[in-house]
Amino acid sequence: MKVDLDIISPSLWLPNYKKTIIVAGPCGAETEEQVMQTAIELSKNNQVQIFRSGIWKPRTRPNSFEGVGTVGLKWLQQVKKETGLLTTTEVATAEHVEQALKHNIDILWIGARTTVNPFTVQEIADALKGTDIPVMVKNPVNPDLNLWIGALERFNQAGIKKLIAIHRGFSTLAKGVYRNAPMWSIPIELKLLIPNLPIICDPSHIAGKRNLLLDVIQKSVDLNMDGFIVEVHNNPDAALSDAKQQVTPNNFAEILSRIIYKTEDSDNVIFDHQIQELRNIIDRVDVDLIEAIAKRMEIVDKIGEHKKENNVTILQMERWFEVLNTRTGKGESLGLDKTFLTRLFDLVHEESIRRQQEIMSNANKEQSID
Ligand code: PEP
Ligand code: MN
Repeated sequence: MKVDLDIISPSLWLPNYKKTIIVAGPCGAETEEQVMQTAIELSKNNQVQIFRSGIWKPRTRPNSFEGVGTVGLKWLQQVKKETGLLTTTEVATAEHVEQALKHNIDILWIGARTTVNPFTVQEIADALKGTDIPVMVKNPVNPDLNLWIGALERFNQAGIKKLIAIHRGFSTLAKGVYRNAPMWSIPIELKLLIPNLPIICDPSHIAGKRNLLLDVIQKSVDLNMDGFIVEVHNNPDAALSDAKQQVTPNNFAEILSRIIYKTEDSDNVIFDHQIQELRNIIDRVDVDLIEAIAKRMEIVDKIGEHKKENNVTILQMERWFEVLNTRTGKGESLGLDKTFLTRLFDLVHEESIRRQQEIMSNANKEQSID
């Protein structure tokens, strides 16, 4: 089901709009010199449109660097004056909003730790009523798409139409290579539900390490996302927060030069022809797949009838484990992923049980009529 949001495309409000929106700047503003040096270097690359910097930093543990506070807003004003870059900062309270608006910050962003809390989101949305400042909303820390959508809805209902979602990955118990698991299916689902909502990627908070940045950016570009927000610092190793994931403006320029951009369609006739042929094959394979599933379900029904007649239970654990093991084994030998196979056969099994339950319950009904 679609979610209806009243959104104005950034192509209509972002000066110097480009198909890929690029936001860059330090995790946090630390000194005027650090902010200005980073911004001046970044502004030399004409792909960068927006300068980011946290002024109030939400830190997991106390006694870490919590941001320079309001004084940093003046540095951002200076950045805009000297480089022409638009500015953005994170707001987490109504007071932050008031200060940011007073200092003419161009765009606000809502952090992942704020999106999880509808009370705080509503407080910020209320503080924004009557303004038309653009707001970028990061996904919540936990993989809950509805919380993300809920926050976007609260801003939209407060009259904010210039909305952008930021995909920054999710906290999970399992420790993978990334700091925050990207779970790409969640932003993809968001795009399917709200197609007019631009989504940009935050590879810095997904990756957590410099050497994985390009890889994550490339993945987001391959998914046709609308841009990215990257943490760039003039001296990353000395950064007071998120040092490991920040890069110098030079490293960032290098990363930008290595991204391979793709288009949704191609005007190359040979390519179009080849892809059409492959899609025709896929169409046929999918029909075979559906027919095979229908055939399987037909047999499942027959077994159901047979169980009913012989008063045998629907679920036989041993048989199910045997099915699961042999099918995942076969699939793996053909290069398919075990988790995928398990999910697929769980689904098939669930449906088989549902059908046999229906057969049994029809039997029960017939008996009670008799
Ligand atoms: C940030 O962008 O510096 C930040 C704190 O990000 P997140 O809210 O995604 O953790
Ligand atoms: Mn950060």
